[in-house]
Amino acid sequence: MDDKTPERLSRLLACPKCMGPVALKGMFLGCERCGLAYPVIDGVPDMRSEAAWEAGKAGKAGFRHGLRL
Ligand SMILES: [Zn+2]
Repeated sequence: MDDKTPERLSRLLACPKCMGPVALKGMFLGCERCGLAYPVIDGVPDMRSEAAWEAGKAGKAGFRHGLRL
């Protein structure tokens, strides 16, 4: 696994809530339809709905979730 893995995964994955396309934004995969953001932890996107950040919240955090500090 390398740093490009989340970017490649983003082309394969869809938002579990609305099935919209997701794109890598900082430390998140962001849904381009409903705006939910799923954290990417050690290169692995957590696509569980309970892990998702609501629309706008990840942007306010600079797309950093702080779990790698
Ligand atoms: Zn969505």
